[in-house]
This record gives sequence, C-alpha cells and structure tokens, in this order.
Amino acid sequence: MNVLVYAEVRNGKLKSTAAELLTEARRLLGGKTENIHAVLMGDGCAAHAKTLATFGASKVFVVENSATDTYQCEPHIQVISQLIQKNAYQLVIGPASPTGRDFFPRLAARHKSAMLTDVISLAVDGDKITARRPMYAGKCIAEVGSQTALTFVTVRPNVIPSEIFNAAAEASVEKFAANIDAAAMKSKIVEVRKGKSEKPDLTEASLIISGGRAMANADNFKILHDLADVVGATVGASRAAVDSGYAPHEMQVGQTGKTVNPNLYIAFGISGSIQHLAGMRTSKVIVAINTDPDAPIFQKADYGIVADLFQAVPLFKDELKKIVEHS
Ligand SMILES: Cc1cc2nc3c(=O)[nH]c(=O)nc-3n(C[C@H](O)[C@H](O)[C@H](O)COP(=O)(O)OP(=O)(O)OC[C@H]3O[C@@H](n4cnc5c(N)ncnc54)[C@H](O)[C@@H]3O)c2cc1C
Repeated sequence: MNVLVYAEVRNGKLKSTAAELLTEARRLLGGKTENIHAVLMGDGCAAHAKTLATFGASKVFVVENSATDTYQCEPHIQVISQLIQKNAYQLVIGPASPTGRDFFPRLAARHKSAMLTDVISLAVDGDKITARRPMYAGKCIAEVGSQTALTFVTVRPNVIPSEIFNAAAEASVEKFAANIDAAAMKSKIVEVRKGKSEKPDLTEASLIISGGRAMANADNFKILHDLADVVGATVGASRAAVDSGYAPHEMQVGQTGKTVNPNLYIAFGISGSIQHLAGMRTSKVIVAINTDPDAPIFQKADYGIVADLFQAVPLFKDELKKIVEHS
C-alpha cells in the first residue's frame, strides 16, 4: 500500500500532527517505511523534510509555490491530485485540523473516493482501510470502512502519540513543481488576521486551562492567562463565556467550538454541558473546579474540587510555580 501524508506547515512551523500521522502510517504498514511519502507546502517548508524522515517518511515532496504559502483549498487540492496521478497512492492522510477538514473532503469528492473524517485509529484489512471515529459528540465510537481503491482520511490531532522511527533517518527529498491553475481559484485571500496568542493552538495544546460563565467578565480571564503562563498552558472557554463576551470565539471548546485532546484539561466554573463535553471529554486527565457539588462536569472529571474558582486559581498558581521551580 502506498501512503501519502499531508504534513501541515503554518507560518513556517511544522504542525505536530505531521509526526502523529507518520507514526500511524508506519504502524498501519507494520513498521515498514518504504511506501510512506509526505508532502510539504509553503515558503521555507523544505527545512522540515529531515524531521519527517525521522518519523518515517521515506520520500518527501517539497512544494515551494507562492500559491501554497497562505492556505487556500484549491492549490492544496491541485498539488495532492497531481501527486496521486504520479504515484498511485491508495491512502492519503491529513490532520482533522481546520485546514484538513476544509480541503480533504473536497479532494475526496474530486477523486470520487471514500472520505473517513476525524478518525482516532486506522486499520487495514487486506487492501481495505477501516477506521474508528467518535460520533454523537463522543458518546459512541463508529467503525467505518472504505469501499474505494483510493481512500482519504483525516485524523483527530493529539490522539495518536508520535514516536520517532530513527533519529538518523534520511528521506529522499524531491522538489515538486506543481502546476497550479490560477483560473480554478474561485476566491482570493484579502487579509490574514493573526491571533494574538503565541501559545499552541487549543487543538494541539497538551495543557489547557478553561473558564466558564462563572468568570463573570473579560478582565477576570486575566487570572487564567497568568496561571496558564506558569506552565505554558493554552486558555480555553465555554460557549457561555464566549457568548457573554468574556473570551473570543477562537477560545471556545465544544461542539460549536474546538475539539481538544490535551494531557490535562482544567475547567474553572464550567458546568459540563453535553455540548462542552463534546469538545473535551477525550482529554487524558480532567480536573474540574466548581462551587456546585452536583455540577455534571464532576461525573466526567478525574479530579473534582468543590470550591470558588477565585480562591482556587491563586492556590493552583502557587502550587504549579513550586512544581515548575523544582523540575
Ligand atoms: C447547539 C448548541 C451548541 C453548543 N455549543 C457549545 C460549545 O461548543 N461549547 C460550550 O461550552 N457550550 C456550548 N453550548 C452551550 C451549552 O449548552 C452550555 O450553555 C454552556 O456550555 C454553559 O457554559 P458554562 O458551563 O460556562 O455556564 P453554566 O452552565 O452557567 O455553568 C457555570 C458553572 O459555574 C459554576 N460557578 C458559579 N460560580 C462559581 C465560582 N465562583 N467558582 C466556581 N464555579 C462557579 C456554577 O455552579 C456552574 O456549574 C451549545 C449549546 C447548543 C444548544
């Protein structure tokens, strides 16, 4: 089976999902790497080819075409379609990030092929691809299978632990001169507004500290940002906090916000509605702080603290500082 991995680069930085996808591709092929290729797109992306090799890419295609510098779906679709024509892949994997979720289904439709979205593991049965994916806001897991010779898959970020294959591995690196048809572009980028935070995006963060309606106003979110700075965590919010104007929408976790998968999720003053849980229930460890001992979040939390968040946050900060200083 020939596998192509889309290694996402954003603002010159390689996303951690690239290593996760290559690790999963290797596992799928029984540890063999000869048939695992990866594609990098965007200005300066060639610098990441070596990293991809260490995670198991035997060949890396580097596309340095200005049309791929800032993400737009059409150039990405054209590049991957041209690579499929050239190399006859059976499986094309990308991250279930905003980018992957945007262009992978369109790519699959263009190739009249199966699209398995937001999967958490992959398996191969003969030449058929099967996958597991959460459904109904994470309440159950579906097993889905592809019926086509070519299959497109997006994998949920932060679920598959990445493992280096060989720190000294080298890949064959090929500059791929993609032929991008500008006439096919139906939209153009007018402006890119960057988020203010330099922290990892919520979808990639391994530590998240979130606040809910109980934060009471936007200024109070500063105490969560200060706490997060102690351990390099990313700050999230419930929809009630976002709708009340305490936090921007990009911080929203949940069904209509971001799906997160951190090692540690700390929820301050969040009740634990089904829609919030949909976005964070697969966090490895959940800590909830709430004044109401009957808050639903305590049913999902690994550790629950019945307390006023405004008293708990300074205590958390002191204790985390001690841990950081002694580590
Ligand atoms: C279609 C749809 C989509 C939705 N999508 C999302 C989504 O993506 N994300 C999301 O979060 N919600 C979403 N919601 C909204 C969701 O139903 C809840 O309304 C929301 O999650 C509640 O946010 P909250 O827990 O901050 O607020 P509340 O439910 O009001 O809970 C506040 C909690 O804070 C506790 N509290 C109060 N004071 C303190 C204090 N001083 N210290 C500690 N605890 C305190 C209270 O006991 C309470 O449990 C969606 C709803 C719908 C209908």
